[in-house]
Amino acid sequence: MRRRRFTVLLCLLVVLGLAAAPGSAAGFGTIDTGGQSREHERLTRAALSCAGDAGSEPDCIEPVTVDYLAGHGHEFGAVGAPDSDELSDPAAHCDDADYVAGDYPRTRDQATASLVDCLNHLRFGEGLDSAQYMLGADGEVLAAEVGLNPECRSREQREDRAKCATLEGFGRALHGVQDFYAHSNWADRADPARPVGDENPPGLDLPAPTPLLDLRGAAAPGPPPGLSTGCFVARDEVPGVASCTLRVTHAALNKDRGRIDPATGAASDPTTTRGMVGNNFAKAVSGVVTETRRQWQDFRSELVARYGTDRGERIICALTHDDPVNDCGGSSLAVALAVLAGLVVVALGAVLWLRRRRRA
Ligand SMILES: [Zn+2]
Repeated sequence: MRRRRFTVLLCLLVVLGLAAAPGSAAGFGTIDTGGQSREHERLTRAALSCAGDAGSEPDCIEPVTVDYLAGHGHEFGAVGAPDSDELSDPAAHCDDADYVAGDYPRTRDQATASLVDCLNHLRFGEGLDSAQYMLGADGEVLAAEVGLNPECRSREQREDRAKCATLEGFGRALHGVQDFYAHSNWADRADPARPVGDENPPGLDLPAPTPLLDLRGAAAPGPPPGLSTGCFVARDEVPGVASCTLRVTHAALNKDRGRIDPATGAASDPTTTRGMVGNNFAKAVSGVVTETRRQWQDFRSELVARYGTDRGERIICALTHDDPVNDCGGSSLAVALAVLAGLVVVALGAVLWLRRRRRA
């Protein structure tokens, strides 16, 4: 009889403990897009923000966190960071991997080498490294490492909060991934009304995600022979000038501009030459949304692979939630577990004492 009572007590304590454990609390809400047509911001929101259609995606990202990841108002955010301090680095934007079969100033191998530069620039390493510092020795979320008030500063401004650094690393990778679809012919088509060549390279019309953008390991890609991005110089023109003479230029190939709905990812009103051919802009946008979700999935699976299921999932919770200390079992969980352990010890002691007294 006493044993049964003890079992009931233990079950009750376990249930109380579980109630204090982290749950999934995806918060819905309205976000201010600032009225700008900043494509990287809108694409990132469409793919990952809990506030829009992505709210039904696993591990969508809550409003304050997505504000920093995607950027907002005048803030570039993590995804926009390469446009502030890596504007002249072609690898950050997957530029200069241009190639057209036939008589062309560069070889396929040279173009592939530029693509590999881009992939190596984007790989996840930095974000994954920073992520571990969001948790303490016992796996608890560290408030000082996950706070977003004040908003994350950039790497150059010596930001040292682990969540900020992780989001910045991941956001910079996303920027290049998104540029790949806007700057390459992976998912588009040539203008059927004009001859094919450096001013109108063939389009590959391929789906997203692409096997080329595996940012987890060091695998070297084998791109399709006809893959091209655009050569970029300050005077970005068609036909190309300076070192881009006779080459496919960023100006000829990009699908950078148009309207994107940050809630649904719907694309309309393209304004670049290549983007206005057929549904090239819409294909680039839907490709980016699909690819951005794939990269987030890859990033999460790498976190679990590296830090184990418990810590990995706690890190993912802290990355996606605006109030990780309360939502992801930070110190409150540690306290709950300590109380639970204490109650179990007391109960055990009481049972032993009662037994000994009955024997005596
Ligand atoms: Zn870019």
